[in-house]
Amino acid sequence: MNSLLLTGGRVIDPANQLDAVADVLILGGKISAVGPNLAAGAPAGIPRLDAAGRVVCPGLIDLHVHLREPGQTAKETIRTGTRAAAQGGFTSVVCMPNTTPAIDNAGTVALIHERAREQGLVNVFVAGAITKGIAGEELAAIGSLHQAGVVAITDDGHCVQNNELMRRACEYAQMFKLPVMDHCQDYSLVTDGVMHEGYWSTSLGLRGWPSAGEEMIVARNILMAELTGTHVHCQHLSAAGSVALLRAAKQRGVPVSGEACPHHYTLTDAAVAGSEQFWKADGKGVFGFASPTREFPVWPAYDTHFKMNPPLGSARDREAVLAGLADGTIEILCSDHAPHCNYEKEVEFDYAPFGITGLETELALALMQLVHSGRLSLAAMIAKYTVNPARLLNLPKGTLTAGADADVTVIDPGREWVFDRAQAASQSHNSPFYGWPLKGRATATIVGGRVVWQLA
Ligand SMILES: [Zn+2]
Repeated sequence: MNSLLLTGGRVIDPANQLDAVADVLILGGKISAVGPNLAAGAPAGIPRLDAAGRVVCPGLIDLHVHLREPGQTAKETIRTGTRAAAQGGFTSVVCMPNTTPAIDNAGTVALIHERAREQGLVNVFVAGAITKGIAGEELAAIGSLHQAGVVAITDDGHCVQNNELMRRACEYAQMFKLPVMDHCQDYSLVTDGVMHEGYWSTSLGLRGWPSAGEEMIVARNILMAELTGTHVHCQHLSAAGSVALLRAAKQRGVPVSGEACPHHYTLTDAAVAGSEQFWKADGKGVFGFASPTREFPVWPAYDTHFKMNPPLGSARDREAVLAGLADGTIEILCSDHAPHCNYEKEVEFDYAPFGITGLETELALALMQLVHSGRLSLAAMIAKYTVNPARLLNLPKGTLTAGADADVTVIDPGREWVFDRAQAASQSHNSPFYGWPLKGRATATIVGGRVVWQLA
């Protein structure tokens, strides 16, 4: 029946500006009512979930996830990726199209929808490619991708370098009111850089990736949004200059937005030099909460779990991303969950693939860096994971309004826990956050009125 009564939780629904202790009644997979004392009017024998002392909010949405299906199932599958999402408190994910083959045609979109229906624990929305094969040369059939149900287009993992082609993509997407999401990377500036260009890249002898490699494309995208009127969303922003560009463009009313990932607002490039350097320099403020059992995690220099695209920035970049999140310049939080096999990461830094897993740790890191640190209210943080991504992608999600799909996340913001490799749900283990003492965790994930995961 997909019916459930959540009792006594602090219900935070930013879409309705609601923050109050209340019950949430779910009937037939839909939100029926939110308010005090709903037990009296609920059907007899309805299953109950005691949410006293917990936060109850619309199901969290992660709009930047690599599920690796089809074709890269050694890294992750729809089954394991959505299980990781559920354990992280996410009821919806948007999967990126850089699979094998790329999601650049209606048939592959249909395949993912079908597998997600059969094997997915949470809702899976699909982002289609901008160009055929994500090769950056010829536009994909964006109209038929739209018909097949993609919620956005992006060449994520790659970046369309040809500005004329990007203009046509924006104009094409505009016909269907599809947002264009972009992984911002100027190839001519970045070349074969593997980490942020600065003190640590010089010190470690690794090839540098200048911040301008991201900022150049953020600026390009602002101009494209202005020229075409299409909404352009800049993915995983990491550089101070990118945040400044986005802030100024939004003040001018340009239809642009941005997202940030926990690694970019928690870590810095000092982490590539090893834990000792990181804790000594940039890590001091990361654990802003008291924990009697806290031990600082240890890792060596050149650890490939600190190699991501875009790379970890300087402490100044991290502060700028945090400031952008705090003042609303960056409206959306996500993980860029990017699973890779152990053997792929267990190589020299230069040869390792970019990316880390993130679905199971992002909520805790967001709570620690944004809420427990006092930078954002709980409601403002939840908005960046619910109503904001839902609005960008026109998803019928992200709210507890009566009649909405009963996707709900229950959170214990104060729960202290350690991310344990043995209990992780993702098929891959390329996370830099194993062994980290974290604060804040989802305790139940409810999709369409059904509890798909609950903390034991
Ligand atoms: Zn990307």
